[in-house]
Amino acid sequence: FNVPALRNEPVRNYAPGSAERADLKMAIKKARSVVTEIPQYIGGEEIYSQNRQKISPPHDHSHVLGYFHEGDKTHVQRAIEVALDAAKSWSVMKWEQRAAIFLKAADLIAGPFRAEINAATMLGQSKNAYQAEIDSACELIDFLRMNVNFMHEIYGQQPVSSDGVWNRMEYRPLEGFIFAVTPFNFTAIAGNLPAAPAMMGNVVIWKPAFTQVYAAHVIMNVFRQAGLPAGVINMILADGPIAGDVIFKHPDFAGIHFTGSTRVFQTIWKRIGENIGSYKTFPRIVGETGGKDFVLAHQSADPKALATGLVRGAFEYQGQKCSAASRAYIPSNLWEQVKEYMLEDLAEIRMGGVEDFTNFVNAVIDEKAFDKITAYIDAAGKSADAQIIAGGASDKSTGYFVQPTIIEAFKTDYITLCEEIFGPVLTVYVYDADKFEEIIPVIDKTSPYALTGAVFAQDRYAIQYATEKLVNAAGNFYINDKPTGAVVGQQPFGGARASGTNDKAGSVLNLLRWVSPRVIKETL
Ligand code: GLU
Repeated sequence: FNVPALRNEPVRNYAPGSAERADLKMAIKKARSVVTEIPQYIGGEEIYSQNRQKISPPHDHSHVLGYFHEGDKTHVQRAIEVALDAAKSWSVMKWEQRAAIFLKAADLIAGPFRAEINAATMLGQSKNAYQAEIDSACELIDFLRMNVNFMHEIYGQQPVSSDGVWNRMEYRPLEGFIFAVTPFNFTAIAGNLPAAPAMMGNVVIWKPAFTQVYAAHVIMNVFRQAGLPAGVINMILADGPIAGDVIFKHPDFAGIHFTGSTRVFQTIWKRIGENIGSYKTFPRIVGETGGKDFVLAHQSADPKALATGLVRGAFEYQGQKCSAASRAYIPSNLWEQVKEYMLEDLAEIRMGGVEDFTNFVNAVIDEKAFDKITAYIDAAGKSADAQIIAGGASDKSTGYFVQPTIIEAFKTDYITLCEEIFGPVLTVYVYDADKFEEIIPVIDKTSPYALTGAVFAQDRYAIQYATEKLVNAAGNFYINDKPTGAVVGQQPFGGARASGTNDKAGSVLNLLRWVSPRVIKETL
């Protein structure tokens, strides 16, 4: 038998006058008109606590979307217990039954929940309608559906047998529970990180970022409505170190599926190392962390395509993508033209709340992010080694708004060319157009990350040279395109070095981390 065909969910464009636009506007209005109480989900229970935290849109502090009910150590402990209990039946359930639940979840998001989950992502994370659609609708649907195909592929891989011997491989889940820790910036990642191990038969404790709980809660409702048995995925809303304290000491901790900062991932890795003697099994450690993603242009590049790639790659979703184009190396012959095109684009870009669909740029996620981003911009404004050539303004009076900013740096080790900012800031370094080969080792060495990167060139030699020389500088490498927007099934995503374990979300490689096969040799 076969599984449903591989295809990406078509992206809706919410054209003015369309029914889909009217539905989405209605969902936004509805979400804004109620105050939503968000519990933890432990086993079949919704847990409300005395410790409520307010949720407001990052672009509109004055509005209250709802409250989430924060948990403590006892909740984490309880979640582990119910998960281990649920594992007894979930781990032996036929894989087709598990797959069907997640296919159903994908269909619920594609249909009845689409407007709700997009509205939640827009309001809770300040994503515009188009960015929400490609994330919380299409990418999440694609993860769920395509993972079913990858499961099928994995389970079909069997060893050879010989005369009188039948060898077979059982793709069992890991023994214990998986901890999924998810970020604010992609609702799709928040859904996929607990779903992928669960699909492979594991039970999961899921801790979404507090800044993403508003849409995480919709994901949890989708899973429940799709028929996911109680206890398979438990959403806990405890602070990271509090949850970690229980989880990393637990003997049944079997793996972590993480997306977040490099620093937090390093801390987690250390915690696991400190406790390594107390686990039943070596835990799987899978993480996608930071990026300082480059765009390298050759003197033969098309300046218009380059400028478009930079504006979209750097400023879509306010640059809050691990993959965002945050440093560009542009040859001197193209710079004036590329700058002009970028400034033209920026002049047309509108910034404001997500409720107005003509706003391309919305708010950054929270005050901490705002302060961090603006500190880099302010320092650049005062530095002799850099100048701000576009943007630079910011305002947090009504929402955390940071204008798309382009910095030109005059030194290759200028701080904004090396450190991850995670905001709408692009730093450009203009190099002597004849020194293409010399700029490449600079790109490779000035940042510890290796997530995404792009080369723009028409010259075949330049494309080949950059692709070969930057072999370890990016897990996702783009030729004549922006370094963002990996599509599930088309560009499996992830990078190495300080960017993570490169286990390629949305591929067989990722799902393989969530199985612990048993080989059975039977003598006939
Ligand atoms: N997969 C996303 C992209 O290709 C980025 C994911 C992230 O920011 O973590 O743009």
